[in-house]
Amino acid sequence: MPVPLLDLKAQYRELKPELDAAILDVMENAAFIGGPRVAAFEAAIADYCGTAHAVACGNGTDALFLIMAALGIGKGDEVITTPFTFFATVEAIAHTGATPVFVDIEPGTYNMDVSKLAGAITERTKAIMPVHIFGQCVDMDPVLSLAEERGLFVVEDACQAIGATYNGKRAGSIGHAAAFSFFPSKNLGCAGDGGAVTTDDPELAARVRKLAQHGTTKKYFHDTFGTNSRLDAIQAAILLVKLPHLDRWNAERRAAAAVYDGLLVDLPGLALPEMRSFGDAVYHLYIVKTESPDAAEAVMAALKDAGIGTALYYPLALHEQAVFAGRSDYAAPSLAVAESCDGSTFALPCFPGIAREQQDEVVRVVKGVLA
Ligand SMILES: *Cc1c(COP(=O)(O)O)cnc(C)c1O
Repeated sequence: MPVPLLDLKAQYRELKPELDAAILDVMENAAFIGGPRVAAFEAAIADYCGTAHAVACGNGTDALFLIMAALGIGKGDEVITTPFTFFATVEAIAHTGATPVFVDIEPGTYNMDVSKLAGAITERTKAIMPVHIFGQCVDMDPVLSLAEERGLFVVEDACQAIGATYNGKRAGSIGHAAAFSFFPSKNLGCAGDGGAVTTDDPELAARVRKLAQHGTTKKYFHDTFGTNSRLDAIQAAILLVKLPHLDRWNAERRAAAAVYDGLLVDLPGLALPEMRSFGDAVYHLYIVKTESPDAAEAVMAALKDAGIGTALYYPLALHEQAVFAGRSDYAAPSLAVAESCDGSTFALPCFPGIAREQQDEVVRVVKGVLA
């Protein structure tokens, strides 16, 4: 029985009439840039996250970059983040001219180890960028109190965590601002690229909006250099159809994760994702870890032979990537927990609507290698 890592076709089939109608309506009205759908989506996403403002933009990478640019972060500044994230987090920091500074992660949750944050702060630090990896929030209270004490911004990379909660607050409403991605495979995905910034700060929202439209608030008059980063009206229309289903989809992901937890708990040689009690995770990915890269390779090969989708997340920690080698502003740190994940952490299929029989099949194949 083949099991995809994620079933986007099933998600389309579920909502096909509404999605098709929404897309055709944009075509009929030929309002492709800006307009009521984008404004309505911004309002809906702010409401969903519990923030005063949301600004739609081209993708999650831009969302991160626009926040930092709007905060005035640039050359000579440092931004503290995690080495265990999608490359875009760090790319966005680097493109402002700032230097990324990595702190190690915790085993089990793979989130930033907040107990190591204070030691990474220097007089150049401007912001902390926690990444709610795989859909579980970082322990934000210590991050917020440290940031307040040291006068730092907190920018959440919430690209994998839409709908996740932390002490009753939704991801994206905890720091000064947050970035979301609507890349098709994210928990709320459009039919292409899309992103958004959420914040309670009206001035920050206005600066992000201005930078996303060529540094202008009045057409053809510019007092700063911005860029072009917009959410297409078609994507906004699609996201407006999907958003009301997000909580149910996330609940289905949690239920599927609980099934794996129950079936794999006693399997030697396989570490299951650990969950903190401060909120609900949304299982963007269900990540397991073997004791060695060789064991991961064996399990993944068996999964692939059985037609089951899997992939390493992430094959190589970011502080070890070639792009940083030889950079004069960057001394490669030694981050033991992140390095222990290299080649050893991978995803099992865990998506809304996955059937119990599909999960049984995944478990059978994993156990066939490790049990
Ligand atoms: C997907 C993702 C991004 C980037 O989003 P794009 O929309 O692909 O630009 C950034 N950070 C994390 C953690 C992500 O998962």
